[in-house]
Amino acid sequence: MAELPLSKEKIAEQFGPHLKYDPPGGWELSVSEPDAKVKTHCCFCGQGCGIILKVQNNQVVGFDPWEAFPFNQGKLCPKGVKRYMQGSHPDRLMYPMENRQGVGYERISWDDAYTKVIDAIQRIQGEHGKDAFALLSGVSLSNEKSYLIGKFARVALQTANLDYNGRLCMVSAGAGNKKSFGIDRAANSWADILETDLIVCAGTNVSECSPITTDYIWKARDKRGAKLIVIDPRMTPIARTADLYLPVRPGTDVYLANTILNLMIQAGHIDEAFIREHTTGFEDVKAGVAKYTPEDCEKVTGVPAANIRKAALWWGEAKRSFLLHARGIEHHTKGVDNVCSYINMVLASGRIGRVGCGYGTITGQGNGQGGREQGHKCDQLPGNRDITNPEHRKYVAGVWGIDEKDMPGKGLSAQEIMNDIHAGKIKGLLSICFNPLVSLPDQQFTEEALKKLDFYVAIDFFLNETARYADVILPGSLHEEDEGTATTAEGRVIRIQAAVTPPGEAKIDWHIFQDLAKRLDKQKYFDFKTSEDIFNEMRVASHGGTADYYGITYEMIEKNMGVFWPCPEIGHPGTPRLFEGGKFYHPDGKAHFNAVEYRLSADLINEEYPIYLTTGRVIFQYLSGTQTRRIGFLVDQCPEPYVEIHPILADKHGIKEGDQVKVTSRRADILLKAKVVKTIRPDTVFVPYHWPDAKSVNRLTQRALDPISKIPEFKFSAVRIEKVNFT
Ligand code: SF4
Repeated sequence: MAELPLSKEKIAEQFGPHLKYDPPGGWELSVSEPDAKVKTHCCFCGQGCGIILKVQNNQVVGFDPWEAFPFNQGKLCPKGVKRYMQGSHPDRLMYPMENRQGVGYERISWDDAYTKVIDAIQRIQGEHGKDAFALLSGVSLSNEKSYLIGKFARVALQTANLDYNGRLCMVSAGAGNKKSFGIDRAANSWADILETDLIVCAGTNVSECSPITTDYIWKARDKRGAKLIVIDPRMTPIARTADLYLPVRPGTDVYLANTILNLMIQAGHIDEAFIREHTTGFEDVKAGVAKYTPEDCEKVTGVPAANIRKAALWWGEAKRSFLLHARGIEHHTKGVDNVCSYINMVLASGRIGRVGCGYGTITGQGNGQGGREQGHKCDQLPGNRDITNPEHRKYVAGVWGIDEKDMPGKGLSAQEIMNDIHAGKIKGLLSICFNPLVSLPDQQFTEEALKKLDFYVAIDFFLNETARYADVILPGSLHEEDEGTATTAEGRVIRIQAAVTPPGEAKIDWHIFQDLAKRLDKQKYFDFKTSEDIFNEMRVASHGGTADYYGITYEMIEKNMGVFWPCPEIGHPGTPRLFEGGKFYHPDGKAHFNAVEYRLSADLINEEYPIYLTTGRVIFQYLSGTQTRRIGFLVDQCPEPYVEIHPILADKHGIKEGDQVKVTSRRADILLKAKVVKTIRPDTVFVPYHWPDAKSVNRLTQRALDPISKIPEFKFSAVRIEKVNFT
């Protein structure tokens, strides 16, 4: 057998346990039949692609494409084809551990671990009140776990301070959707993208962050000759194929969308009958956008006026259209305004709720849609109910069998929880699958806060960077080690199947919460035998809410390969396309225009900090990298962060490709390798965010929040750059 150019260790890292070194024969690919093939889904983004995992000896050893699954039809992106490898990583947490000062982590028994956790909860809540113990959860968890964690916080801990890492991701979209439509979901399944004539992608790096959606866009272009407009400060891979690219300056989306709407109104390119019969608030919006001219817009956004006119004309004249957006417009202190301004364009066109006509916000995280529906947000109860609404509280308290008066009220959002930890008001923390030290802005502040905690317990499957500060670590379960459901960016509820059991003494996450509830004397509220038991209670708790899952069963999901909510009754087929017949979800049955004015971002540029910094993902990494930084192939493709700089800006600073560059914001500086590219605005730099410690771009970002969604402004910080010479 020929020598391979990689070491034995490297091969094992890249190809996993099914490629064996067997001297003298050399490398052999294991071709033995797996013990089982399990139809489930990829967990590395909100698309939820179908995948078949191959299992041998309780280990996931490979995958087959799941051709029949309708969304991705066998296609997977680079993360998807390698996701099966994480379970065999030696870092997998397998035993409870205690952090002993001066010694490090030492293995302890589950009994000891639970005793320490419960003692700390009772001590802190006894001395400082219930809300002094907070819970931070992860949105990549299944719907069942999201629901159970929400119930655990309110019923077992009785703390108001529960929030989730979707707060750093999709909450501006959720708030904008609710304000505009009365419901928080993509308006259509992606099947409608295939039937459209014009696609607008605003602030969404589709090809890297939601790769399979690219296929829908390309098919629409191939099949119907659909045009594509991309709005983004970076010429992302999808933008390179666009018919019209609008390189908007970070933080100026409202100005652009208002100008386009004004041009549509002036040209008569609006659907007056739809506006009259199915919406409210148009006159306010019309009056508000009247002053937004293409020439002023060019000055503010940096987009040439002629191209703004062209975009307005194309959008105005289209017979069918589909608008997609993501974090690029949402990660701002005016994220909700940005979302509403683009939805205003959709509503004015009247092109929604019909074949090939729609709107979608692309969820980023594995269960980014479902995780924001079932009650583990600080302001929410299951079914996307409002925790401040007396009727909603009464209904859910009834399902849970508690007195409504015992249910806490609205708590703090994720960043606000960290602020209160820093201020010494919150003393204890339980986190699950959330890595705030990498994910939250202003990393130094987060670090200071974590050091102030009296007690911190982290549940996870790898020791993430935040968990280094934990007093106790509880080993939980990987995606493939438990069953349940998730909900995709389209609003399709899918079945997650368990392929293997947790290794060592690691436990299924919801079993850990059951054990804790039992020790808090709340066992009777958590008496579930299976994930399906949790799902069935969740269905009832969601019934009558806007995110109504009541009619969905495990059997129905498996039979149909997914069911679109709302599905309010048994026998209901689900709802792939919302708003048909102009029926919206506000009590008046109408969609609401929301008048929004352009306003400045929180961190302004000046002579000292003259450059816009924006952050985002790369295709090879996922969120804070806890999982993907442990998969050798993905690490090799993108091992470290870098700073993208336009050649004009690079020349100005004497920077060449590969040079070390110091990027400095008002909070900190970091050193990064320069990537000189023509695909970014010359006044803007970009750094991906998946890495910790000294190279974390979140050392530079700021804690300013959108006043409604409480999302931090990850997409705009003022910075300066300089080349660093090492002598
Ligand atoms: Fe996984 Fe998303 Fe890639 Fe699909 S597009 S394979 S869900 S990371």
